[in-house]
Amino acid sequence: MDFDLPEDIAQHRDKVREFALKEFTPEIAREHDMEEKYPDALKKLAFDQGIVDFTNPWKTLVAIEELCRVDPGLGISVTVPYFGAETIMLFGSDLLKEKYLAKVNAGKAMMGLAVTEPGGGSDVAGIKTEAKKVDEKYIINGAKMFITNGSIADFFVMLVRTSRPDNKRHHGLSIFVVDSKSKGFSANKLKGKLGVRATDTAELVLNNVEVPAENLIGEEGKGFYYIMTFFNISRIFVAAQGLGVAQGSLDRTLAILKNRNEAYQGLEEVNFAIADMATRIEASRMLTYKAASYLFQFKPKPELTSMAKAFASESAVFCAEKALELTGLEGLTGDLERYFRDAKILEIWEGTSEVEKLVISRFLTKEEKS
Ligand SMILES: Cc1cc2nc3c(=O)[nH]c(=O)nc-3n(C[C@H](O)[C@H](O)[C@H](O)COP(=O)(O)OP(=O)(O)OC[C@H]3O[C@@H](n4cnc5c(N)ncnc54)[C@H](O)[C@@H]3O)c2cc1C
Repeated sequence: MDFDLPEDIAQHRDKVREFALKEFTPEIAREHDMEEKYPDALKKLAFDQGIVDFTNPWKTLVAIEELCRVDPGLGISVTVPYFGAETIMLFGSDLLKEKYLAKVNAGKAMMGLAVTEPGGGSDVAGIKTEAKKVDEKYIINGAKMFITNGSIADFFVMLVRTSRPDNKRHHGLSIFVVDSKSKGFSANKLKGKLGVRATDTAELVLNNVEVPAENLIGEEGKGFYYIMTFFNISRIFVAAQGLGVAQGSLDRTLAILKNRNEAYQGLEEVNFAIADMATRIEASRMLTYKAASYLFQFKPKPELTSMAKAFASESAVFCAEKALELTGLEGLTGDLERYFRDAKILEIWEGTSEVEKLVISRFLTKEEKS
């Protein structure tokens, strides 16, 4: 058993780390956080320099980890332009891949994934946005909430209801590619978030938006299965975000503690807290890489992915909080306070920790395997 990354992936990780340390300066990070501004120039730079290469999942995973380690808000922002791409990659037609995905791959377009609605996010089967087929088109009406890249994306993959549910609530859902320039489409940027303030978040409103039938991803009525497959992939990348936030919290804590006096450095409480942080990080990394290894070999283990997502995101919150406790005023007024604010969302998006625990327990009781 070899626990080291393959040479090419390790090299990519080092290249990404160098990029982040050079480009994600504290001033740029603070500016985008305070002004809630998407880092367009950094995103372009990251694409141009091959930092973001989502055609290789291992490269994507280590890039997310290293970028979030240096700054979570900027790290998530530059790696999220293709959020939702796997739905088209796995289930979309060649036409959709060519028309939409190719541009995202080339860094020339940005996309988003719209599932959550004003009524809630965890109950995916309960969504209300509707698409009605009229001739060769679908007409969509409804609203989506808390959508990343909402006011800046060129298009969205959107889960909507295409028929009334029969005996199963998750039946009758479908996914469409919806162009943000469509008539009847509007986005309202949401401001004042606790964290990840450099990312763009918006409410989407669809008022008789016409979508050509060719924009249907896969088969009508199978949207719930496609979206669950997507979440079983995307959760591994949230685990990588958590890993980065946790590791970055420890890095910055150790750097601050180096300058403290010997008496403080020798305190048992301080050393135990550091040991707890490091142990959590190592356990998160093992779990994340193991789940990723199965997933990237097309042998997914959703329960393992959910364990990685829940544990790594909870570890990010744990480490970011410990970091503030250990560094006091320096942490609270410096860059560490951003890690604390940015960490919380990781326990919420792509399935809250409670939802992950439901997935794990259902797999263990075999309910989901069939
Ligand atoms: C900054 C940000 C960006 C986001 N980006 C996107 C995006 O790009 N696309 C998108 O579709 N969504 C996005 N979301 C939405 C996010 O995925 C949801 O917030 C999340 O799914 C939880 O949904 P909710 O907030 O409506 O909470 P709810 O679903 O209302 O849950 C509230 C609480 O109840 C618990 N709960 C719910 N159901 C159960 C259950 N069955 N058993 C036990 N506990 C339960 C939850 O764990 C949670 O603690 C984003 C959210 C934020 C804040």
